Amino acid sequence: MSSEFEIIQRYFKRPTNDTILGIGDDAAIIAPTAKMELAISTDTLVSGQHFFEDVDPYKLGYKAISVNLSDMAAMGARPRWVTLSLTLPKKLIEYNEVWLSEFARGFHELAQMHHVALIGGDTTSGPLNIGVQIIGEIESGQSLRRDGAKSGDDIWVSGYLGDAALALKFELQKIKLTDKEAELCMSALHMPIARIELGQLLTGLAHSAIDISDGLMADLGHILVSSRSAAIIQLEAVPCSEVLKRFLPSSLAVQCLLAGGDDYELCFTAPKKNRNSIESIAQKLKIPLTMIGEITQGEGLLVMDAEGREITVEKRGYDHFAS
Ligand code: ADP
Ligand code: MG
Repeated sequence: MSSEFEIIQRYFKRPTNDTILGIGDDAAIIAPTAKMELAISTDTLVSGQHFFEDVDPYKLGYKAISVNLSDMAAMGARPRWVTLSLTLPKKLIEYNEVWLSEFARGFHELAQMHHVALIGGDTTSGPLNIGVQIIGEIESGQSLRRDGAKSGDDIWVSGYLGDAALALKFELQKIKLTDKEAELCMSALHMPIARIELGQLLTGLAHSAIDISDGLMADLGHILVSSRSAAIIQLEAVPCSEVLKRFLPSSLAVQCLLAGGDDYELCFTAPKKNRNSIESIAQKLKIPLTMIGEITQGEGLLVMDAEGREITVEKRGYDHFAS
């Protein structure tokens, strides 16, 4: 079995250009670009909570960094450095060294794709837990915050919502999917694509943004609270895949769409005058960007169906501490 030192050397240490001092000392040293602000965020994946322990380790490595990239996207920041805190069950390493190389492969693949350097971390043993801290850069004053929404803003979302939640229902054998449908939804669940370029292009155009990790209603709700605003959205307008559409208008499908979570799409608000610019970003990036409603005065989030009736969902989103 590998020692902690061997694990770090073999699986995680890689040459990096963007670092003054990387893995191997008591701390990493980085040099932020002059006049840029730093965006810093951490996201932890807990076994049994965020994933099943028998999940493909390559996909787990990929997702661990992807969900953190998504936070950078939501701020409009360019991701640059990550640290990785790994707690590994001894059993897993003794019996299955392939696990680590596959996990590292998924992690490094996505890091390299986005020119993000792994500059340090911590490795301990215990129940499987993966913590990633990410540091990005953004021009001073340009970050996309949750508290910037203004009454009259359009509300937009990227991509399609609900497929990851649908995949989870499928894994738990609550619904049936064809092989092709399952493949599509599973990739949304296990290998989400962080909208990094989109986030950066939205700086200067959007008033506020958030990435949808807990569910549209919950996350848009965070924008509304931070911005002291209300919103009205149209269920019909919320973009979804053909797979999810097949399950509409069942309450299961509506729940996945509005409150499923694990989407890692961006929800943002922008003044109406920026509609054309936003549509040209959609064309440039070949990502659907869909207007789903409007920011209003007051408080609360109203979701309307095609007949103008208010829709209520059982749970607005995922909450670790809710009963
Ligand atoms: P210390 O003795 O200060 O606790 P460690 O032995 O924990 O240092 O780590 C040695 C070096 O390896 C440090 O540079 C640390 O940042 C890095 N490191 C430890 N675990 C990881 C990991 N999982 N991924 C990347 N770097 C790691
Ligand atoms: Mg240590």
